[in-house]
Parts: sequence; C-alpha cells; structure tokens
Amino acid sequence: MTHLDYVAFGPHPDDVELFCGGLLAAGGERGHRVGVVDLTRGEMASRGTPETRAAETEAASRELGLVHRENLGLPDAGLRADDDRAAALVVDALRRLRPEIVVAPYWHERHPDHEAASALVTRALFLAGLRKYGDGEPHTPRQALFYPMRHLAEPSLVVDVSAVHARKMAAVRCYGSQVAARPDAPPTLVGSALSLSSLEARDAFYGARIGVAFGEPYVVRETLGLADPLDHFRRNQFGGKPLFFPERR
Ligand SMILES: [Zn+2]
Repeated sequence: MTHLDYVAFGPHPDDVELFCGGLLAAGGERGHRVGVVDLTRGEMASRGTPETRAAETEAASRELGLVHRENLGLPDAGLRADDDRAAALVVDALRRLRPEIVVAPYWHERHPDHEAASALVTRALFLAGLRKYGDGEPHTPRQALFYPMRHLAEPSLVVDVSAVHARKMAAVRCYGSQVAARPDAPPTLVGSALSLSSLEARDAFYGARIGVAFGEPYVVRETLGLADPLDHFRRNQFGGKPLFFPERR
C-alpha cells in the first residue's frame, strides 16, 4: 500500500459520505490519494443488513473516487475510546496508510459511537507517533480535520465542495437501505423524508458563508497558521468578502 494523502475515519459506513464526502471527492479530483477507514459495519442499524451495507459502501466508494477503503470491524453501538484493542487497530491503520491529513468526527455528537470514534481516533493519532508503542514505523499526520455531524459547531474552516457536490449526493444515495423513502421500514433520522434535503441545505448554508454554492465545515483543535497571507488569499479568493462582493467571483 502506497501512502495516502487523506484518510477519513467513519464510525459507520455512510457517515463519511454524509459529512465529509465532498472533501474526499474533491481531493480525488485533484489527484490526491484518498482512503476511508470505517470503524464498524453498522450491524446495529435499524435498517438494512451488514451485507447490503457492504455492497452500498462499495458503490459509494467508487462514486467518491477512493483508492482504498477498509473496515476495522469494531462493535457497532459499542465503540469506546478506552478500548486498547480498538486503539491498536486504528494505530495500525494510521501506520500502514500514513496519511498526511486525517479526517475524523467532531468531538460533540448526538450518537455515542460518533463521540467515541472522535476520541478513539484522537487517542490513536497520539499513540501512532510513539516510537515505543506497538509495531510498525511511527507516523504523525500533518493535520487532523474534524467533521461536525448532527450537532452544530463553529467551523475553523469551510471547504468549497461545489464542483463535486453532485457526486457527494450520488454517493449518499448509494446507501438505499438507509436513506431511501421506505414507509415499511422503521423510522430513522437518516431515513426521514427531510434527510437528504436537509443535508443539501446544510452544505448550501456553509457554502453561502464563503460565497460558493456548497461547502463542508471542519474544525481543528489548533490555531491555523499561514506562512504567507498574501499567497493564501490570492489562491483562496473566498477568504475575503464574498458575501458583500459576489460580483468579484
Ligand atoms: Zn454513524
């Protein structure tokens, strides 16, 4: 396995599509090597089976242009950050895939697995850099980006995903067992009638904050630094006043 540029960790298959699919698809279009590590198979989901979910995941991975996807098979509804075996598996994935950027769930979340996934990946990011921990060459990515899911968080940055938004939504729709309208299936949040339109509204809202059609919010723990502000703002025009001067775009 050659090293990856991005690795996104998802608590359940479909989480990365919903909440950071645009970033991943955009990275792939730029020629970056993008991979996903799902922590569980979603076997506790009210709808679908792990088998249907696996086929849906494969289709969604193709849609996003991923070069790698794997599932660590950790227990759904039983993710815990203090699980040493789980931490070792995440460390192993980080050391094998050696991503420059790690993408993980934001730390405050509605679903306990999502919060646990955030803490588990954060713990593994630290352990993966320790020379004396486990086997394998230590690895510390350049940056971790955390994606908010169902809870609002003030983003540290918003990524413009307008050019790939149709592909993100197509990847989400690959999860027919989860998101399709099915009156016979048990009601779920992601399967509700407003699920996809609210996701689109959310991406449009964050896009509007930077003056583009669609954006995805990310949070970093650190203060972001710029080596060359002039260069940065030349390359990222929406860093300025896009809402007040839309005609410049
Ligand atoms: Zn989930």
